[in-house]
This record gives sequence, structure tokens and C-alpha cells, in this order.
Amino acid sequence: MDRWTTIVEPFRIHSVEPIRLTSVEERQRALEVAGWNLFGLHAEDVLIDLLTDSGTGAMSRDQWAAIQRGDESYAGSPSWFVFLDAVRELWPFEHVIPTHQGRAAEKILFSVLGGPGKVIPNNTHFDTTRANVEFTGAEALDLVIAEGRDPSADHPFKGNMDVDALERVLAERAADVPVVFVTITNNSGGGQPVSMANLRAVRGVCDRYRIPFFLDGCRFAENAWFIKEREPGYADVAVPDIVREIAGLVDGMTMSAKKDGMANIGGWLAMNDAALATACRNLLILTEGFPTYGGLAGRDLEAIAVGLREVVQHDYLRYRIRSTAYLGDALDRAGVPIVKPVGGHAVYLDARALLPHIAPLQYPGQALAVALYREGGIRGVEIGTVMFGLHPDGTEASAAMDLVRLAIPRRTYTQSHIDYVIEVVRWVAERAADLRGYRIVEQPTQLRHFTARFEPLP
Ligand SMILES: *Cc1c(COP(=O)(O)O)cnc(C)c1O
Repeated sequence: MDRWTTIVEPFRIHSVEPIRLTSVEERQRALEVAGWNLFGLHAEDVLIDLLTDSGTGAMSRDQWAAIQRGDESYAGSPSWFVFLDAVRELWPFEHVIPTHQGRAAEKILFSVLGGPGKVIPNNTHFDTTRANVEFTGAEALDLVIAEGRDPSADHPFKGNMDVDALERVLAERAADVPVVFVTITNNSGGGQPVSMANLRAVRGVCDRYRIPFFLDGCRFAENAWFIKEREPGYADVAVPDIVREIAGLVDGMTMSAKKDGMANIGGWLAMNDAALATACRNLLILTEGFPTYGGLAGRDLEAIAVGLREVVQHDYLRYRIRSTAYLGDALDRAGVPIVKPVGGHAVYLDARALLPHIAPLQYPGQALAVALYREGGIRGVEIGTVMFGLHPDGTEASAAMDLVRLAIPRRTYTQSHIDYVIEVVRWVAERAADLRGYRIVEQPTQLRHFTARFEPLP
């Protein structure tokens, strides 16, 4: 197989979903109605939707078949035991608590462990994780290595935790740290992986201070593949064994099954500590449901169980990681500035570098994201000053970076869709000097990127 360079999707299409071709004029009108906010579009007006990889992937024949087997008993459903076995095959934790998605697991865990005066370190908190930590009054601390904060720095494991920085925090404040988190892959840091050596080092520090170590495991299979490809000693280890080795280093995890669960909805919280599990289950019953279904239908539990067996298959992961790199490498060769190396689930365009004539407070990421939609019907998401620039005190400042994320839904688009994306991005990048900035004409005080309305500058 490795003799050939063409990436073959390791599946063929069994059921198709139409996507609608639209004209530039139609898309211009849709933009005007949406106030130039891509979250306001009707998804039917999008040709290639790269807004997120969360819950947007295609399920397999076997997942759809499993949905038919779903048993909707309120308590002790056979579908629950199928789910539990599939989770434990990779993550043999004592206690597994199903939730309707990842943030519900976070909400429950931090309600128990957080609170004013507490501090939760992570390589980089994902936005829902940070929000759930801060909602309890605790502090969310990002301790990724320096390379992880530099878009052009090349490093095989840019998601690694800065272990010395963690040690310094614990030396001073161990009593205030109820848990140490690491996110694999590091979504907010560009989908960058964490090495096994780094996880082992974090374990060592946590042991010395007797603090539990949890994972945000949303993209664990992609992370395990990067370990297999890049970390000495793992080339011949099977991905499920790498995952189990990771599991052996931690005390628990939160998970969104909308990512590497290959499902459209779902998640879980897992741990070995019985007292913590009891406290979490009590909250689960209050907010999500009985502990054998969480916020899920039996059919969802079945779909996740099958997804977990499919996501660790080597043919799938090779295709997944190489097809994301295929988009990134083509844009890089064409001179389009991107965050490097390419992560597992998305390619990040560096809009600030591409559009130096648009000041950060005129939103270069927004300008680029809108242009990709207007010209080619492609929807990405601005990750920059629109998303992070408005502070709680009402002041506005430029974000650290102005990026446009093109997230790739799992098993959903073919190589010709991606070739089309490459063609459109190149076309827009060649005419970057013609793009104009935007101003915000209406915005809420929090999470403004979802609902703000914009106007193009003259
Ligand atoms: C998506 C995601 C979450 C939250 O999961 P939801 O299912 O969207 O609630 C948490 N952490 C990371 C790293 C994620 O990518």
C-alpha cells in the first residue's frame, strides 16, 4: 500500500446526501441576510461545510445497523452494556458515566471539583472546558509548551504540557489544584498532539503532589496515531494498545463522542475514584438522566460503541491524518500561510499574515472566512479577534492570532471536494489585496462570534 501516494478513502459511498450548488449572487444575498456572520447562514446554502468536525461526520453502515438494535429501556438497557464494554476495551476505568456531549461531562466534573480559589491546569483548555471551570469560580490555567503558542514553530508534539511550569504551579499551590488536565489532541492549540513521554512526565509530577490526572480525550485516536508515527518506539504498536497505555497513565477523562466517538451526539465522564464517581452520578441524575443512559438514547449508545471500534482502525486513521495534511500541504506549497505542522482535524489559515493591510480590529479572519464563502460556498470559522477580542469589561483588543479554521468532518468529503477547497483558497489568497475589513454593527456581551452582525468597510 505505502508504495502509492494517492490517498484512497477506506470506504465507498452507500448513501448520499445532496449538497446544493449556489451562485455568487445567491451567496452574496445570503451573507447580507446573515449580517456577514457565517453562523447565521442556512446550512443548505453552504457547499462544503468546514465549520466544525464535531458531530458532523458520516456514520458507517454498521453504526446505522446498530441504531436499529438500540434498546430504549430506562434502566439497565442492553445498549448501555454494549457501550460500557466498548469504552472499557480502550479505557478500562472503574466508573463510566454517559453524558449527552462533552461539555455535560465537564459541567458535572467541575461542579464537584471546582469552586472559588481552585486552579485547574491544562495544556490548553478548550473553550467549553474553560467556561465550565470559570463558571464555578475556579481559575483555568493554560500551560502548553512555548512552541505550542507560535504558529510557525515546527515541533512533533506541539500540544505538550510545559512540565516545568506545571511543577512550579504545584510547588506553590498544590492544595488549590483538585485535578490536572491534558487535552489530546490540543484542539485550541491547532489540533496538535501530546507525546506519551509528556503524558508520563505529567503523571510523575501529579504523583509527587498526589493530584489526580485527567484527560480531555476528544481526539484520542488521532493523538494515538501521531504517537505511532512520530514517537520513537511506537511504530509497531497497534493504536488500541497505545490508547490503553495512555489510559494506564491517567485517573479519569472527559469525552465528546462527537469527535473520536464517530457519532453525531454523545460523551462520557470516567474515573477510578469511587467517591468522586458517586458525587458525579448524583449530579448526572439531576441534570442528564439515569446512570445507564446519561443524556442519550439507547440507539446513540450503540452508535458510539461501533464508532469506538472503527476510529482506532489503522486504515481509517492513516486516511484521516493524511487527508487533513493533504489540504494543509497543498496550501503551504501554494504559499498560503497556515499553522504548521498540520494538526489532526483541521487546517488553520493565518489570516493576519495573508491580509497585512487589514488591521486586527477590522477582523482579517472574518474577511477571509466571508470571502471563502462568497467565492466558493466554503464555510470555515474565524478564530481570532472576533472570537476572543471582546473582554468582560467591554474593552476590545486584538487576539493573539487571527486564524480561519477549516475543520474536516470525518469520512464526509472526498478528495475532489478537498481539491475544490484548495482551488478556492488559492484563488482568494491570490486576490488577498482586494479584500476589505469589517466592522461590527450589533453584538452581544459574551461569545459574540455566534450572533454578531457585521458590515463590510468601504
Ligand atoms: C468539542 C470539545 C469539547 C466539548 O464537547 P461537546 O461535545 O462539544 O460538548 C471539549 N473539549 C474538546 C477538546 C473538544 O474538542
